[in-house]
Amino acid sequence: LTGRRSDGARHIVHIGDVPFGADPFVVIAGPCAVESAEMISRAASSVAELGANVLRGGAFKPRTSPYSFQGLGMPGISMMHQAARAQNLPFVTEILSEDVVDELAEQVDAFQIGARNMQNFALLEAVGRTGRPVVLKRNFGATLTEWLLAAEHVARAGSSNIVLCERGIRTFGDETRFTMDLAGAMWAQEQTRLPVIIDPSHAIGIPHLLARAAAAALAAGLDGIMVEVHPDPEQARCDADQALTVPAFKELMAHLERFAIVR
Ligand code: PEP
Ligand code: MN
Repeated sequence: LTGRRSDGARHIVHIGDVPFGADPFVVIAGPCAVESAEMISRAASSVAELGANVLRGGAFKPRTSPYSFQGLGMPGISMMHQAARAQNLPFVTEILSEDVVDELAEQVDAFQIGARNMQNFALLEAVGRTGRPVVLKRNFGATLTEWLLAAEHVARAGSSNIVLCERGIRTFGDETRFTMDLAGAMWAQEQTRLPVIIDPSHAIGIPHLLARAAAAALAAGLDGIMVEVHPDPEQARCDADQALTVPAFKELMAHLERFAIVR
């Protein structure tokens, strides 16, 4: 299902009306978490104005510590829905539990399966059955083959609208948050007909390196990026250290623009 087509044809995945896997390179941007209606609308209008194609933001957050902010839950989904529609952007948001699949399927333009749930097969199947597009992140301890087989679970359940997202793997150093596996993403793209994007925010975690990482993804022929942008990173309730400010996101977009001309 996710295998390479002998004619080399790519499977184009639409999130809203935004195509992944065709030109142009797609930019998904937004905060780690939806923190309030006001905050997500500010974030949405800033990234829309700077040319992002899809809004991101989590209402259900898979936090390492149970004492950290867990997200606003369903009210956060409605806030995001409103903010996205006001900017005419589709949005993607993470789902953590099968219990809310049907409820969310009615509202979201795409489901995000986070790194920690990459092999939660019951969740993959439940999401697949809805037929909605899925952004499937690679677990930080998963091989590329395990990642592709996770996509196969979604596809077999009923949705081949899958965007693969490399978000960094765990290696022996911690100077960058994870290790961005650019070559692995290229390999995955070559082995399947699915679009493949990179999330340098989680992979690297260092805001001033993200513009060059994004350009590297573009130069590598990948299909897009996902980045975290916050209207006021110092106040962020989740992943504050890695969020781009709006001016930094503007620079990232300008940097991509320079490379897009060369491409
Ligand atoms: C996120 O996108 O905010 C997130 C939790 O990502 P990951 O699942 O890659 O850690
Ligand atoms: Mn995050």
